[in-house]
Amino acid sequence: MSQPVREIRHVAVFCGSNTGLGDTYEKAAAALGSALAKRGIGIVYGGTHKGLMGILADAALAEGGRVHGVINQRLFDRGHLHPGLTEHEIVPSMRVRKERMLDVADACIALPGGIGTLEEFMEAWTLNQLGEIDKPVGLYNVGGFHEPFMAFIDTMIAQKFLPPEHRNGVVLEGEPDALIDALAAFEKPVVPKWL
Ligand code: AMP
Repeated sequence: MSQPVREIRHVAVFCGSNTGLGDTYEKAAAALGSALAKRGIGIVYGGTHKGLMGILADAALAEGGRVHGVINQRLFDRGHLHPGLTEHEIVPSMRVRKERMLDVADACIALPGGIGTLEEFMEAWTLNQLGEIDKPVGLYNVGGFHEPFMAFIDTMIAQKFLPPEHRNGVVLEGEPDALIDALAAFEKPVVPKWL
C-alpha cells in the first residue's frame, strides 16, 4: 500500500546565523533553498540576510521561490532583515517569531546551526510529540553534522527517557529532495511519550 503524502506548501527552515566551517554548509543551504523553490514550496524562516539563513533565502529567490521572513523588532531595528524577500513580518519577540513560523509552516527542517537552531527545532519536535501540532520535522544531515545529536537521542532512549519509537518522530536525510520526500510521506509514531 502506498504511503499517504502530505501536502507541503511551506517549510519552516531553522539554520545557523553563521555559515560554519569551510563552504560545505553554505553549499548545503543553497541546495536546500533551490530544491524547495524548484518544487514550489515556500520557505518561512528568521528573515535575516546573515549566515546560512541569508544563503538559503538567496538561493530560493534566485529560483523564483517564495520566501517569508519573520523577524523580531530588535533585529529589524539593527538592519538584519533580508531586503529581497517576497514577504516579511516584524514581530515583538523571538518567542512570537517561533510561533508565527510554525503557524505558517506545514513541516520544519533544521540545517546545521548553533543553539538558536537547535532550540527552534526541539520546540517543533516537542510540540509534535505532545500532539499540539502535526507538522513533521527533519534534519538536513550535512556531512554527518547531526549524528552526535542523534547519538544523544539514543542515550535518552537507552536511559528510558524516550520511547524508542520516537526516534522515528524525526526525519534524518543528507540530501534535500530525499528529505522533502520523507517529510511528505511522514507518519508520526503512535505510541505515547510516557514509558
Ligand atoms: P543560531 O543557530 O544560534 O545561529 O541561531 C539561528 C536561529 O535562531 C535561526 O533559525 C533564527 O531563527 C534565529 N536567529 C539567531 N540569530 C539571528 C539573527 N541575527 N537574525 C535572525 N534570526 C536569528
